[in-house]
Amino acid sequence: MSSRTLTGRNTITAQPLCVTVEDGRIRAIDPGPDNEALWLAPGLIDLQVNGYGGCDLNADALDPDVVLALARQMLSTGVTTFVPTLISAPEEKVIRALRAIASARQASAQVACAIPFVHVEGPHISPQDGARGAHPRDQIRPPSLDEFERWQAACGDLVGMVTLSPHWEHAADYIAALTAKGVRVAIGHTHAAPQQIHAAAAAGASLSTHLGNGIALMLPRHPNPIWAQLADERLTATFIADGHHLPADTLKSMLRAKGIERSILISDAVALAGMTPGIYDTPVGGRVQLSVDGRASVAGTDILAGAVRPLKDGVAWATIAGVCGLGDAIRMATEIPGRQVGRRGLLRLGEKADLLRFALDPQNKSLQIDTVLVDGVEVQ
Ligand SMILES: [Zn+2]
Repeated sequence: MSSRTLTGRNTITAQPLCVTVEDGRIRAIDPGPDNEALWLAPGLIDLQVNGYGGCDLNADALDPDVVLALARQMLSTGVTTFVPTLISAPEEKVIRALRAIASARQASAQVACAIPFVHVEGPHISPQDGARGAHPRDQIRPPSLDEFERWQAACGDLVGMVTLSPHWEHAADYIAALTAKGVRVAIGHTHAAPQQIHAAAAAGASLSTHLGNGIALMLPRHPNPIWAQLADERLTATFIADGHHLPADTLKSMLRAKGIERSILISDAVALAGMTPGIYDTPVGGRVQLSVDGRASVAGTDILAGAVRPLKDGVAWATIAGVCGLGDAIRMATEIPGRQVGRRGLLRLGEKADLLRFALDPQNKSLQIDTVLVDGVEVQ
């Protein structure tokens, strides 16, 4: 029987705690030392990770070793559960990537636990400029249940989330079929009309992917797809909290509209995340400038070329920029996304002992990771 304790302040109540973990579970929560300076939270849960530290899930021929390396990178940023995300691509490429992720899960029980399922973002999204974001236009196609079945056959039913635009003619049927199989459907990269968005939610769509991004640069003031998704209480929204994709006022207002219980922070990190600032040549985005403040732009322009800050920086930025308090930021990066991946992200008796001890670092707008436990075992 392995047992250990970890102290830190509760991010919601600020009370100092001493947590005892045993056999992978939280067995006791007692008062901790008054002079405790570090914070204690569940391990972070990131529902949208395209890559990190040079590991690219959307590279042409994904190798299982890249997935294993990515899982280690995630742990170093305090993320104990993450959802690998594949963007619009030829079917053969999606299938190869799904197989690689399935192989990585077979090779490592720890990685199998860290990756609950895969998120396929696209290819049934809006082909319009702006709405499609960086997804290649020639890879966007209408929803196809046959293609979905081929994905699942290739990877042992590992696809657990699909992002689409409900403007397609048979979108509601496709959404109903996926949700009947227990697959989460998210609305994103869309130019759909409000009635199509509400019809998608009625058919079972339960999420909005990075609301406020992946949308036309110019919108009618109302109605538009943002208002419709903010208003629909059947939809829980994910938000890219990197300080560049959404201004603080916008995110703050969106969180008020959805409420913390229906809001999730994601990184949407791409392979350049975690790399040293500089100029990089990338296969999808072309020449990209990575700045010191964590912004990736198409070189020589202001156009964003993907998100490059880990989720821990999103938590820190939201807190420091006054979007919300630390307790709410942590809940939106642990407990609320935890509901999408079984039952995770709770600092409570009997729960999985995935824990994170950290200091808030206002100067670097980040969290300094002190300790990461997975199933009660120190991994960082
Ligand atoms: Zn996207």
